[in-house]
Amino acid sequence: MQPEQDVRPSRKEAVKVREIDAKARSASFEEVVVGYNEEEALAEASRCIQCKNPACTTGCPVGIDIKKFIHQITQKDYKGAYFTIRQKNDFPAICGRVCPAEYQCRKACVFTKKGEPFASEKAINIHFLERSIGDYGIRHNLEIPVNKDSRLSGFKVAIVGSGPAGVCCAGELARQGVKVTIFEALHMPGGVLRYGIPPFRLPRVILDFELNYLKRLGVEIIPNYIVGKTKGLDELFDEGYSAVFLGLGAGVPSFLGIPGENLCNVYSANEFLTRVNLMSAFKFPEFHTPVNIGKAVVVIGGGNTAMDAARAALRIQKMQGLEPNITILYRRTEVEMPARRLEIEHAREEGVKFRFLVQPEAFLGDDSGFVTSLRCLECRLGEPDSSGRRRPVAIAGSDFIVDTDMAVIAIGLLANQVLTKVTPGLKTDKWSDVIVDKDTMETSIPRVYAGGDIVGGEGTVIEAMGMAKKAARAIIERLLKQ
Ligand code: FAD
Ligand code: SF4
Repeated sequence: MQPEQDVRPSRKEAVKVREIDAKARSASFEEVVVGYNEEEALAEASRCIQCKNPACTTGCPVGIDIKKFIHQITQKDYKGAYFTIRQKNDFPAICGRVCPAEYQCRKACVFTKKGEPFASEKAINIHFLERSIGDYGIRHNLEIPVNKDSRLSGFKVAIVGSGPAGVCCAGELARQGVKVTIFEALHMPGGVLRYGIPPFRLPRVILDFELNYLKRLGVEIIPNYIVGKTKGLDELFDEGYSAVFLGLGAGVPSFLGIPGENLCNVYSANEFLTRVNLMSAFKFPEFHTPVNIGKAVVVIGGGNTAMDAARAALRIQKMQGLEPNITILYRRTEVEMPARRLEIEHAREEGVKFRFLVQPEAFLGDDSGFVTSLRCLECRLGEPDSSGRRRPVAIAGSDFIVDTDMAVIAIGLLANQVLTKVTPGLKTDKWSDVIVDKDTMETSIPRVYAGGDIVGGEGTVIEAMGMAKKAARAIIERLLKQ
């Protein structure tokens, strides 16, 4: 059989990952990236020069031994590679799909030159290799050994929230014999992995498989349960939980604070994506929650959320037989966009338009209260701000109008305060994020730990997992001392 592409690159050329053609994929929610086959994975792994001091691992928030797992791939020891990754990361098939590797391990790879804003194209495609191995683990039903400690078997721990932080903490504890219950506000587990990231980036069959791992470990997941409303932390302790981990996430959307923001068909990205992903609006009427889609949609923002909203809206336009017309408005330039480079590339290939250096000033509407246009100002880049990115400066008198009948605001997320506001003694900072001891992730309330976006603000999946692992270690240490 002929290989589908030349998979014998020089050390300098990365093996391109296979993807569904842009025209075909943008009318469906099927996964865009197909991934490497064995031959491609072997070719990409063989580009790794096995550095004496591998910088890639320092770029990984959970410190995966990247050099080792890549070497194991070259030896066709896929099982070994899987266990190497699983020592540090419970969900390689998820992280291999969503990690912003160009800002993390790949950026640190020796093939990226110092000072480049994100990984060089020549950097090893660590994330695609991780994904191949994660999928191999799923196909072969690989499980890492459960290492139950009989001293922990009498303890139960409550986890609030089933996003990456919550499920990762649950897995760590359950593997060592702690009885774990996860309380989740929504009707399905997964947090942003379920309601934010669309299936064309993270197929639900992968997410479900990874979450089922918790069930196999004996973790109980209770949905439709809002801690802070259904029951408070005190009541959980009264029920005999020895510790609580808060993985509440950052589920509250930021708004622009400009006139007209409450007109009809102006959505927060959270609402729009939740309707699409969690409530399957793109399958209406098979599922009962529809979503209004305009003929000319603007999405405001430059992160992953903006890309996801734009690409989801474009797909629904196509599925409804509309001419695709989606424009992302961003106040800086493409280089400063925080979204994963791959998502920007994919959005553009699929037909999403970009307009940079734009600051929205006001939404304008018709007599029925529906949005009809957006008044904006042009910007230029000024001096760097505290994030290190150059600050956008609006240019007075540069007003222009963008016609639109639907807008999605995707400019960031804030802490979910449902629980923190009703819990006396739980200290939060000025952004309402929970304050923790950075070594143990313990909060101002003894035996209450926290991690993920509720601690650091909007971050990444792997960062949330890193914090959760740290908290799990501290919880176990504490339980063993009791
Ligand atoms: P979450 O995933 O937000 O989960 C928190 C969970 O807690 C939710 O299920 C919520 O319902 C539940 N909860 C909250 N309060 C309560 C309560 N009181 N009682 C019970 N349950 C409660 N990161 C990446 O690395 N790569 C990406 O490609 C990427 N894309 C993204 C796309 C979008 C649209 C968004 C919004 C974020 C994206 N991120 C991405 C960021 C990443 O998803 C988050 O950093 C990560 O999910 C944080 O995990 P978490 O567990 O802290 O919180
Ligand atoms: Fe391989 Fe790059 Fe890591 Fe070096 S830095 S070991 S080349 S992945």
